[in-house]
Amino acid sequence: MRTFVVLRSIADGVRFAKSGLARRLSFVFGALISTIVAAVILINVQTQLQLVHERLEQRLAHLIDIAVELSLPYLIEGRGAELDLIFEELRGHADVLDIYFVDAVGRRVGALSDSGASGEDPLARVAAETGRQQRLRHGNRLQVAMPVRMGSLAYGTLRLDFDPNSLRSEVATVWLTNALAGVAFVMVGLFTSNIVAARLVRPLNRLTRATERAASGDLDQAISVRTNDEIESLAHSFNTMLVALRRSIQEIHEVAYRDKLTGIPNRAWLGSKLEQITLEASARGECFSILFLDLDDFKAVNDNHGHHVGDMLLIQFANRLRDCVAGLGLVPLAVGSSLRSVKYRFDRDAVVARLGGDEFTLVVPTPLCIELARRIIVAMRAPFVVDALILRATTSIGVARFPDQAASFEALLKHADVAMYQAKRAGRNRFATYDGDQHRLALERQELADEIRGAIEADQFEIFLQPQFLVATGQVSGAEALVRWRHPERGTLLPGTFLPLAAGAGLLPDIGRLVVRKTLAAAQRILPSSDAPLTFAMNLSVDELADPDFVEDLLWRIDSADLPPGTLEIEITENTAMSDGAQIQRQLEKLRLAGARLAIDDFGVGYSNLGRLKGLAFDTLKLDRSLLLDVGENEEAENLMATILAMAQVMKADVVAEGIETTVQLSVLAKYQCRFFQGFLGAYPMPVEDFVSWLDAGQSSERRDRA
Ligand code: C2E
Ligand code: MG
Ligand code: MG
Repeated sequence: MRTFVVLRSIADGVRFAKSGLARRLSFVFGALISTIVAAVILINVQTQLQLVHERLEQRLAHLIDIAVELSLPYLIEGRGAELDLIFEELRGHADVLDIYFVDAVGRRVGALSDSGASGEDPLARVAAETGRQQRLRHGNRLQVAMPVRMGSLAYGTLRLDFDPNSLRSEVATVWLTNALAGVAFVMVGLFTSNIVAARLVRPLNRLTRATERAASGDLDQAISVRTNDEIESLAHSFNTMLVALRRSIQEIHEVAYRDKLTGIPNRAWLGSKLEQITLEASARGECFSILFLDLDDFKAVNDNHGHHVGDMLLIQFANRLRDCVAGLGLVPLAVGSSLRSVKYRFDRDAVVARLGGDEFTLVVPTPLCIELARRIIVAMRAPFVVDALILRATTSIGVARFPDQAASFEALLKHADVAMYQAKRAGRNRFATYDGDQHRLALERQELADEIRGAIEADQFEIFLQPQFLVATGQVSGAEALVRWRHPERGTLLPGTFLPLAAGAGLLPDIGRLVVRKTLAAAQRILPSSDAPLTFAMNLSVDELADPDFVEDLLWRIDSADLPPGTLEIEITENTAMSDGAQIQRQLEKLRLAGARLAIDDFGVGYSNLGRLKGLAFDTLKLDRSLLLDVGENEEAENLMATILAMAQVMKADVVAEGIETTVQLSVLAKYQCRFFQGFLGAYPMPVEDFVSWLDAGQSSERRDRA
């Protein structure tokens, strides 16, 4: 990706230089052309104005010639006074403002106004004195004085006031036409300069486009520029760079996208490929399926035989996967030089990739997915031989379909993963297709587990105490701590609604720690004010006993609470007592040594092995409520109870009859000398505060469990 960023910035740079260059070139050309045009136009105007000026001179000369020629005969003949007529005629010309004659003594003959008739005409005088034509510019008029002579005889001076502006319109036309021509030339020049500049930068343009294509990932190209200059060598360098880039990208792809161990595509390759396949499938209305595989018990292979053997097994496993895919006529895609260059064909191609560890993923056409899953299960049944070891490596497979089960590749992978776990839970070595309902349930369970975690932190778990009584006297002998969840919205919840979930989420030890703390605190609070010794029982599960930290914490707390020995009783169910963990037995022994009594809870519903039960040094047997439901009405039930009581006596264990609700049940217990009972007949479970008041008030059995 970095390479493409570099290429893109090169493209931007070339584009910038190119646009700058084109602009600069057209600016220079434009300025040059404009200067030339301006110079030419100025010269042209100059020349044309010169011509206009010459025409003016000619006209003036012409007028003077005519006037002199016409005046001379009159002057020679001494009829100067008649010149008026001739002058009148000449004044008819638009450019003649005035014309008259100044005689040798300075008198004006034929002037338009009489005002100056007697006044001296200085211009005429100078002309007469010098004998040469004189001119004087006066405002908008050109005054001309021309001595008139015949041989050596001077007759006077002809005076003409001439309007030089008669040719003004011609001058304006000269300027206008030249200006228009200039503008037109400049426009054409600028346009041409643009074209020329564009032509000059065209090879650069091509180079830019090629760089842009390369930047967007198209490295399979070469540009040819024949300018025989620096641009051509730049293009050549560019082509060389592309070749080097192609090679290094191919190497990078190999390293980044190929799984080093098995040689098949890895997770990164699958991620990008799957995204591409999903997009294409959506656009083309195609469907495909994902198989998510996880080896069963692969950890045991690593643990027992070492990682080298594990690696060899994974290689063979990957090869078998490829064989299964090929057996269905599908072609597994390999890591290509470019991700785009390898197109997935929905009817013929397959993807076999390793996600990491012992997880593999396959992408195949949907109609073949179930058949393929079956083939893989069968293929993996045959043993693998690694370093003369014969290994078994079955697999669990989850299948999810696109697009009907998930619309994005992330969701699809997740669903296939969920299905794989369903296959694992169903007993491994099998495949399962994704089941949305099960997934939803799992999510709900997950949410509840999160809620339980929050409740532990918020200290929402309480204990209720249910009293236990001596059957013979009805005296309180102790209490069992039963956990309750004070749920902020759903009220007080019974353990049956949350303990199984907490167990699934591994949270029992955390809840147990709260129960231990609160039970011991209750015992410390109640015992000093009680006349008789009381037993405080609490329930522990396998999860709690199997957790060494939990047991250590419990032992420490028992020690710190400093209660009389035998005050605390640990209840474990019959099934917990029967579990084979040697570690659990050791933990129970430690607890007994610390002074805790041990009770077998719910006795009569599990499958107790009496021999093993005997080996477990327990103090109390709690008869399950179900055993006592029919006593008093059913002889068999009574006999069974009598037998268990006799057996408990042999084992020297106390017996607590649970779930006693009627006086009939109680009288039967008394008849067979069962020592203790617990049940709604005596009292309901109650909060610690209530239990304290209940004891103080003299044990009214009317108390009700507020749960
Ligand atoms: P359990 O240890 O057998 O506790 C006795 C259960 O029987 C209690 O139910 C109690 O409310 C109920 N019970 C007592 N007398 C009568 C009666 O006369 N009639 C009927 N129908 N029921 C009666 P609860 O509190 O719902 O507890 C259910 C089970 O949850 C307990 O059975 C115990 O196995 C487990 N449990 C309770 N608290 C804890 C705890 O803190 N930790 C663990 N691990 N398990 C607990
Ligand atoms: Mg119990
Ligand atoms: Mg019980």
